[in-house]
This record gives sequence, C-alpha cells and structure tokens, in this order.
Amino acid sequence: MRLCIKLFLLGALCVTIGLPQAQQGVPENAVTRVSDHVYAIIGFPNIAYVVGTRATLVVDTGMGPRNGAIVAREAQRLAKGPALYLTTTHFHPEHAAGESAFPANTILIRPSAQQDEIGRRGTEYIDLFSSRSAQNKELLQGVKLRQADIVFDREATLDLGGVTVRLFWWGAAHTKGDELIFVPEDSVLIPGDIVQNKLVPNMPNEDASVKGWLSLLDQLEPLKPRYVVPDHGALGDGSLIGKERAFLVDVQRRALELKRQGTSVEEAGKLLQSELKAKYPDWENMNPIPNVVRRVYEEAR
Ligand SMILES: [Zn+2]
Repeated sequence: MRLCIKLFLLGALCVTIGLPQAQQGVPENAVTRVSDHVYAIIGFPNIAYVVGTRATLVVDTGMGPRNGAIVAREAQRLAKGPALYLTTTHFHPEHAAGESAFPANTILIRPSAQQDEIGRRGTEYIDLFSSRSAQNKELLQGVKLRQADIVFDREATLDLGGVTVRLFWWGAAHTKGDELIFVPEDSVLIPGDIVQNKLVPNMPNEDASVKGWLSLLDQLEPLKPRYVVPDHGALGDGSLIGKERAFLVDVQRRALELKRQGTSVEEAGKLLQSELKAKYPDWENMNPIPNVVRRVYEEAR
C-alpha cells in the first residue's frame, strides 16, 4: 500500500507501508476450496492445488524455499494419494524459486520452452528480484532452479485419480515459457499471469508478446471455464478471458494508431497510461502499460 501525504510547499511525500512479508509471501492455513478437486491459496502469488485419489498437483511454489515449505506442507495436508507433482506457470522467482523445499519424491513437470528459458534467464531473474529488496534477497539466497523430471512440448495430461489435468504450452506471452493448466472435470482454468482480474498484463521485456498473449486468450476461450484461478489478484469466472482480451485489444489498437501518427514510443506509453486509467478506473495499476505499448511498437515493425 502506498501512502501519500501532501505537505504544504513540499509537494507529496510518499512512503510504502504495510506488511512486506505478506506482499512477498504465501500465508499458511489459508487454503480455500475452489471446486471438487481444486484448492487455492490467495497470496503472492496465488497457489493452486488439484487433488486426486492417487496424486496431487501443485501449481507454483512461492518465492524461495521459505514460502515453498508452506506450499508443500499444505499439499501434504490436502493430499489423498501418495504421488506429488509440481508444475510452474513460468520461471519468475515467485512462481518457481521455492521448489527446493518440496519433498524428494516430488515429480517436477514443465514445458520444454520454460525449462530452456530457465537455462537462459533463470539466474538473471533471481538476481533481479534479489536486488529489489532485502527481504527478496534473503528469500532467494542461494536458490538455483533445477531441471524438471518431465518436460513436454505442447501438451501433457496427468491422471491424478478421479480427476485429470491438462497442461499446455502455446507460445510466448508474459514469458517464452508460459504454461496454462485446465482441469476438465471441474471446469477450472489456472492460467498463470495470462488471465487476471483487473490487472494490466505484465510484459517486462522483449520475450513477452502482445500477439502471443491474444492468441493464447483465443485458444482459452473455447474451454469456457467455470472458475479461473489467476496467479495474481482475485479469483473469478470464465468471463475474465474476454475482459482480458478486450483490454489488450484496446491497448494494441490505440498504440498502433499512435505509432501511425508518428508518436514516439515513450510518449505513447505515457499517453495511454492516463487514457486507460480514465477508461478502466477499477483496474489496479497502469504502470505496466508503457511496456505493453513498447511490445506493440516492436511487433508492428
Ligand atoms: Zn511473472
């Protein structure tokens, strides 16, 4: 939470208040039931569990082994069967860097594109997140991301006993290796960062893609999920897919217009940030907009 105090003649003084632990962590004893076989923890990030009679799948680890241990303990409490699978929606440290806290028999599965990305950018991102705060630095101390036990190309299906899980990789969007998870029996979509609830898509660097993101949303639409468990923000239903798409199409259309008019990418970023703030007042934070605009400009070349 940011608190701003207006001081006479001195402008505004802004300080960050709140509980940094809660912001960077996954709370213990806070599991909520989503559907017959799916559970979630709302934290940073959200964690999802799919529980079958034979095996449990955990989606994402939390930031570093301290959060990973909480996530793994909750998996053991929920489990009905002996086998434990872990998957990561993408390689960013709050999603993947808690893996070492999981028990030795954990079967780690992820798309090969994501595993390649870990080799290419894993350490860079651990260093980047560590540099953002002392707390991150401590949480990520000594973390190395390991090779998955199972890698798949575009799709894998896990039979957990009484419930199946489909894991997809359909190309780059937030990262090169974004994974999407669907539980057909419960009609639950676990889309990582790809479908969120009133949060601007985050496209931090040249590995992200607006066109790729829109194509993922088009492929998700026919699944018509009843429940969506995004990685960040509040849980929702299948209508989130269309809302995400409409927002992104809006940004893309306006950015292309501005590009055609000769507006610089920096100027267009600033302009759209304020335009969209007015158009989508209940969306939380427009700061990621300039990077989305940058991606639109790059893709239009
Ligand atoms: Zn991310």
